[in-house]
Parts: sequence; C-alpha cells; structure tokens
Amino acid sequence: MDVAAVRLTDVEIREREKSIVIKGKQKKQLICETDSVAGCVSQRACVYCGARVVLNPVTDAIHLVHGPIGCASYTWDIRGSLSSGSELYRNSFSTDLQEDDVIFGGERKLARAIDQLVAKYRAKLVFVYSTCIVGVIGDDLEAVCKAAARRHVIEVIPVQSSGFIGNKAAGYRAACDALLRLIDPGDRKINKKSKTVNYLGDFNLAGEAWIIRNYLRQMGVDVNVTFTGDSSYGALKEATAATLNIIQCAGSMTYLAQKMKELYNIPYINVSFLGLQDTAQSLRKVAAFFNDVDIMRRAEKLIRTEETKVKPVIEGYRGKFAGKKAAVYVGGGFKAVSLIKQFREIGIEVVMIGTQTGRKEEYETINDLVDDGTVILDDANPTELERFMTEKGAHLLVGGVKERPLAYKLGVAFLDHNHDRKHPLSGFVGAVNFAKEVYSTLCSPVWKYVSGQ
Ligand code: SF4
Repeated sequence: MDVAAVRLTDVEIREREKSIVIKGKQKKQLICETDSVAGCVSQRACVYCGARVVLNPVTDAIHLVHGPIGCASYTWDIRGSLSSGSELYRNSFSTDLQEDDVIFGGERKLARAIDQLVAKYRAKLVFVYSTCIVGVIGDDLEAVCKAAARRHVIEVIPVQSSGFIGNKAAGYRAACDALLRLIDPGDRKINKKSKTVNYLGDFNLAGEAWIIRNYLRQMGVDVNVTFTGDSSYGALKEATAATLNIIQCAGSMTYLAQKMKELYNIPYINVSFLGLQDTAQSLRKVAAFFNDVDIMRRAEKLIRTEETKVKPVIEGYRGKFAGKKAAVYVGGGFKAVSLIKQFREIGIEVVMIGTQTGRKEEYETINDLVDDGTVILDDANPTELERFMTEKGAHLLVGGVKERPLAYKLGVAFLDHNHDRKHPLSGFVGAVNFAKEVYSTLCSPVWKYVSGQ
C-alpha cells in the first residue's frame, strides 16, 4: 500500500494512528479488522447490532432480544427492509431485563417470553439474540432455546451476539451461524434447481433484491432465496437447492458462503450491483458462471437496453457536479469500493473514505482506486470524520444514520446509503437514483444560507 502516514500529533487518540492513512508517498499498511480503541466513541455498531441487521429482514420470524429494553428499541425495524409477505419482523420483542434479573438470572423470564410470543404469533421460527448483559450474567441461551423448541415443535435459534466477544463483524458471524443452523437440511432430501442462485447480502432496504431478481430472471437465472432481504422461514429452509451463491455484501456474508461451499458444495462469487460499471460486470460474471450461450446473450441484451436508457440521464447530472468532492463512511468495504467507481461515473472526486468493518484486501483495492492525498480510515470516530472532511473540503458525506447529524452540523450535504433511505440504489435504476439524490442534496439551495458555503 503506497501511503503517507498520518503524523502522531495529527490524530487525537494515539492508538488510532495506524488506522488512518493518506495515500501518498510512504509504505504503510492500514490496520483494520481489529477491535475499537477504548474511549474512542467509534461509529461502529455493537456485536448484537451486527447480528440483528443481518437477520432482521427474515420476515416471518419472531426476533426476541434477551436484554434491557434499550437494545431492542435501538434496533427496532432497523433495516426498514421491505417485505412481500409477513410483517412480523417489524416488531422488536424484548425480555426487558431488570436489576433483579441481572442478579438472579433471566432464563425463566426468557422461557416465558418465548411461550407468550409463540402462543400469540404462531411463528415457525424464533431468533433469540444475546446482548451485553447476558454475556455478563451467563444465561444459558442454548439450553433455554432447545427446551422451547422441544415444547413448541418449532425452531428457536439462539444468536450468540453478546458484547465483549469482538466487534460488529463478530455479530455478522453470529448471524451466519444462526442461519447455518436454520438451513441445515438434516436428513431431508433437497433437490438441486438448475440455473438458480442464492443472493447473499442484500437486505431489500428499498426493494433492491426485487430489482436484481428481475434482472436475473430476464437472463434466465432464478433467485432461490435472498439472504436475507424479503426472506422467509420456508424459503431459507430450501437454501441448499441453489447451484451458486452470489455475494453482494461481502463483509456480512462471506463466512456463510464459505461454510455453504464446505458443507453443501455450493460455489460462490462476489458481485456488486452498485453503479453502472459494477452492475454490468456482475451480470456478466453470473452469466459466465453458467457458461450458457443463451444466458450470456440475454445478459448482453439487458445491459445494452438498460445502459441506453440511463446513461444520458446520468450524463445530465454529471455536468452539474464539476469541482465537487465527496467523503464516504459506510459499513463494509465492498460498498466503499463500488462508491469510488460510482462517484467517478458522475464526475465527483472522493477525498476521504472509510468503513466500519472493511477487510485488508478491500482496503488494498480502495487504495489502488483513489487518488493521491485521499484520506483512508478504518473504524473512525466523529472527531476524525469532522477533521478530515473539513481539511479535504468535502461538499458531501455518504453514510448512515449516525453520520447524518455530523454532516448537517458541518453544513455539508448528506446522502444516506444505509437503513433510512427509501429509494433503491442498486442496478441501473439505482444508478440514476444515486445521481438524482446526490444532485438534490448537493445542489440544494439551502447551502446558500449556511455560512462558509
Ligand atoms: S448489546 Fe450492548 S452495546 Fe449493543 S445495544 Fe445492547 S447494551 Fe448497547
């Protein structure tokens, strides 16, 4: 990695020095995939939240949070994912642990909560999430869930996501372990479906999973089940029928794909449906995997038709962004990589880029893609984001719910690329929505009234 080191005096917390680099002159490896520095007020979410965001879009499951009420309210309907069926997942059930439960244990309370919820909602699947305090008091989630599953003859799956076992990435892994338990066919025979993929790491925040399913269908490829956007108990149970796993969100789903390869011999490939370039490339990659002339021909036709429609629209926006600079702080590395390319498509330079859970190889790709002088940072805190955005003169911040107030307080435009948005940003249609959203926030007349603009 060819970078200039940030000087020690440049960062407010000494231990953070190795997680921030400026692409430039020196050789230095950015440190990532580590736990957050204590006292740093990291923008990263906790282990439990990492697990919850992955599993929450399973629409017909009961999501029961074993912990204080705050953990459940913090993540209530967190994804905002869309469903074509059940709406049960929109609830955030909690055992509401109190002081007495912490002293005497919360297992009986948890068992009672499961009984009440199953009696009321008749679901076939319950996810029980462990939180920080459960890790401290040592409630045996495994035993309580096993007993409840036997009592009700349904699946009650513990999600081992208590704090102190790592960072948000450990939550992704806990969610994948829960999914692996769910999809295990056991003695059941599941027949393979030809020309069928599982789509991993799309949470259908604004209907993206439906857009990609439609593209693939036009090519002659079916989506067996999406992990986990708009998924259901029944569909997930058939997951091992697919012939290929395609991964959009590599950070959360690579572990699951690796396990499915190992256990069920299902190969996987990485894709990205963010931006014109990556969308076209990913559709071609899927077509090439099946090595079928008809699928390849239909993929080319689809790409041609869609690009002809959207390229002039995007060009129209591009002309309005001359001289604008963007800062990006998102959850995973795959999204950051796609965003650099997508900003290039609309003529905007990325001057600062970071992620909560990016991996070494993703940061290497980021480093190769960005221009000299770009600040690259892992697991940032608000002070660092503010400082580098200001220093680099960013006009726009791309992030999630926690970054939005920071952008507005600094008087810069903001684009939500996470849970709160209502417009799909995937596929060809998503590329147009992206340009449109960048335009509406960046070129808003409101910035004329903010000092310093
Ligand atoms: S699990 Fe821990 S860190 Fe996460 S919301 Fe609950 S108390 Fe906070």
